[in-house]
Amino acid sequence: MARIVMKFGGTSMAGIERIRRVAQIVKRQADAGHEVAVVVSAMAGDTDRLVNFCREASSLYDPAEYDVVVASGEQVTSGLLAIALQSLGARARSWLGWQMPIRTVSSHSKARIETIDAAELTASMESGEIAIIPGFQGISENGRITTLGRGGSDTSAVAIAAAVKADRCDIYTDVDGVYTTDPRIVTRARKLKTVTFEEMLELASVGAKVLQTRSVGLAMKENVRIQVLSSFNGDDAPCADDLPGTMIVSESEMEKNDMERQLITGIAHDKNECKVTLTRVPDKPGAVASIFEPLAEAAINVDMIVQNVGREKGETDVTFTTPASDLDRTMQILEKARDQIGYNRILSDTNVAKISVVGVGMKSHAGVASTMFKALAERGVNIQAITTSEIKVSVLIEADYAELALRVLHTAYGLDAEETV
Ligand code: ASP
Ligand code: MG
Repeated sequence: MARIVMKFGGTSMAGIERIRRVAQIVKRQADAGHEVAVVVSAMAGDTDRLVNFCREASSLYDPAEYDVVVASGEQVTSGLLAIALQSLGARARSWLGWQMPIRTVSSHSKARIETIDAAELTASMESGEIAIIPGFQGISENGRITTLGRGGSDTSAVAIAAAVKADRCDIYTDVDGVYTTDPRIVTRARKLKTVTFEEMLELASVGAKVLQTRSVGLAMKENVRIQVLSSFNGDDAPCADDLPGTMIVSESEMEKNDMERQLITGIAHDKNECKVTLTRVPDKPGAVASIFEPLAEAAINVDMIVQNVGREKGETDVTFTTPASDLDRTMQILEKARDQIGYNRILSDTNVAKISVVGVGMKSHAGVASTMFKALAERGVNIQAITTSEIKVSVLIEADYAELALRVLHTAYGLDAEETV
């Protein structure tokens, strides 16, 4: 017997038929003797619809009232799931954010969970009742409803799992796990048995979107074991207790359980970056600061930075990347600061992709980066910028080569599955 938090996303909850399926999956876990709490999202598309209502009502809406509106999607699905479970003969009840309560800071529409009082919830789970909790919502210190930011139900689930000291937090979604790379591009991508929290953070932030990044950070801090698995398998689907999905765990647990893992865990791609180059920047102290200070003040994230070796006359070119959505603002800010920085020309390029190889194995092995550079060179792929961290190497290349690069690197690091998926 274990204590399990199960989380179902919007596509799993979209409509009564699907909610009935979810009820069956939940009941099966309860019937296996586990104590079960379930965190649910709103039906797919509902939160978007509610957000649009607020915008229509007034472009300058009050964020506190926005939260009242958008939190309602999860109230509906939690009640419906409790009804569906009751009709299967299970004991179930919903626990709204204010009832538990889930206390958050009062920054409406992007609140952070501070504490969860899980005493009553735990007692109810111990008595064999299934607890259904609407994700995404909480209550502020002055008693008003709050929401956690889009995609926040993942964070709710991890926070509940930490609060009730669950053995596992199963996140049911429309994919059946985390893959070595995007299986729509690389048919030989493999589903991973385990990924560490750190790796998942890197993979999530570089474009492999399975979980809200914040939820992974919280799971790492609270050491909540997460399983990512599909809610769309048939009745003969393997039991969640056999861990058919991908487990996201601490590095020490991963080392114990997955001796045969590869040096590289996964390869991510991100086409939402753009490249900016300033030419003939003075090669002197303070020059680089004068570029990046105004960008930081405007909260523009800069990722890769390359400063080329000086030209003649003490000048240098500086290249960096930002999210493509920030390109216009970036150009505007730099044009305004032109005299202060003292560059000659400003060039931008959106036809780039960032490819990142991620793996904790890198910490103890040399040669990961050179394998990457060699494999790309052999296929004539030019590298425009490079960044590294302890467990990641990223390169910027021409966007048209992104798919080729993923395939080539997947093979170069020995990640290809025997059979295609
Ligand atoms: N329903 C919310 C959203 O769509 C929260 C979630 O599903 O995670 O963002
Ligand atoms: Mg989600």
